[in-house]
Amino acid sequence: MIDLSIAQAKAGLKDKKFSATELTQAYLDRIAATDDKLNSYITVTADVALEQAKKIDEKGDFSGILTGIPMNLKDVVCTAGIKTTACSKILENFVPPYNAHIYDRLLDAGSILLGKTNTDEFTMGSSSENSYFGVTKNPWNTDYVAGGSSGGPAASVAADQCAFSIGTDTGGSIRQPASLCSTVGLKVTYGRVPRFGCIPYASSFDTIGPLAKTVEDAALVLQAIAGKSEKDATTPDVPVPDYSSFLKEDLKGVTLGVPKEYFDEGIDPEVSHSIFEAIEVMKKLGATFIDVSLPLTKYAIPAYYILVKSEGSTNMARYDGIKYGHTTDDAKELEEIYMKSRSEGFGDEVKRTIMIGTYALSAGYYDAFYLKAAKVRALMKKEFEDVFEKCDALITPTSPILPFKIGEKADDPLAMYMADILTTPTNLAGMCGMSVPSGFSKNGLPIGLQIIAGQFKEGNLFHVGHAFEKATEWHKKKPSL
Ligand code: GLN
Repeated sequence: MIDLSIAQAKAGLKDKKFSATELTQAYLDRIAATDDKLNSYITVTADVALEQAKKIDEKGDFSGILTGIPMNLKDVVCTAGIKTTACSKILENFVPPYNAHIYDRLLDAGSILLGKTNTDEFTMGSSSENSYFGVTKNPWNTDYVAGGSSGGPAASVAADQCAFSIGTDTGGSIRQPASLCSTVGLKVTYGRVPRFGCIPYASSFDTIGPLAKTVEDAALVLQAIAGKSEKDATTPDVPVPDYSSFLKEDLKGVTLGVPKEYFDEGIDPEVSHSIFEAIEVMKKLGATFIDVSLPLTKYAIPAYYILVKSEGSTNMARYDGIKYGHTTDDAKELEEIYMKSRSEGFGDEVKRTIMIGTYALSAGYYDAFYLKAAKVRALMKKEFEDVFEKCDALITPTSPILPFKIGEKADDPLAMYMADILTTPTNLAGMCGMSVPSGFSKNGLPIGLQIIAGQFKEGNLFHVGHAFEKATEWHKKKPSL
């Protein structure tokens, strides 16, 4: 039963083919049998999960959106009484006193918490190699990275260690690992899902969303977590539609744009080949394709990294060795406590964030870097809005490259940053995007297709993604572990 989609598992629970406790136990067994190989989970909350499942079985009412469905949360989503580490030494033993709003919404919908999953430290990275708890391995080939920063969520979904997972996407961290592990990954419109209680990286970019086995499942999870929240002033009062109404099997009347800048040299030919084949499938389903252009794409990486590292550097200021987490044993005065606790507690990429961000924000450099990048961001948003006057969604690759070997890019931060070239523009512009499995390379590594739509147009992503998924078999393939 661990390979069932949420929709199938819901039917099984309702028809009493199995109980929520049996389903939960099956996932716990799977985690125990496979996680030595993958390192997806940081904490397994077996007791919490079985307790939640027992209550649901006793009640016997399976009518909620996610009643009895076991999931995990990326380890930046706060869970009261359960360790939440951001995969950093500085928060190694941090136990939050409250729940992230999204966790409460998932509990209200009836979901069950299997545990907390691996990420690059404070979600800074594209390979999960920056986790203090070690890298998550790709279930399709454990010599390769699972992607990042939501490597734990993506690997756990692909390896059937949960029914779905919740990740965060600041510049690609849901879509890129989803692509590298062959799962569905949804980056919502900025503000669609409340961020309250989610440990921040760059607050004007961070979004929270599902990684799932099918597009329909991603739509179900979004239904449970989307919408305005009193606890997050950046969630506007935009109505949440019935996402299931978008799950159609043809693409008649749909216009899709292909931005030429997303197919430039630098894209692995096996990746572009897979996307061109997907375009042919969509044409057969009735979609009309047009060529579009997003010329500012070439500025995405510099603008993105200046802005997120600036916001990230200020968000890291709260970890002073006193208010939260790790305190050095080796300090005699206040300043030394700050310096040594932070030096000992943070890993290299977080230190790089603090240095780049502090530099870009300091007097004299602010106008030249931060302000310039903020202007580029506003222009990129406008550029996307103009393109969405002409089409319902864009079709592009998710990652320019195939999954890479563990260690291959670890010493080259710039090469790692370039891996985000096709995902960061969506975050800069505040649009929504989704990665859907679209094939495999000759050596059996996954390839993902990215669908991008305008603000609050998640329904368009589900329509295109679902129709494509129904016409293909990629999402049904499973890694052998
Ligand atoms: N790799 C990107 C970064 O480090 C994206 C990370 C993310 O989306 N959390 O900024």
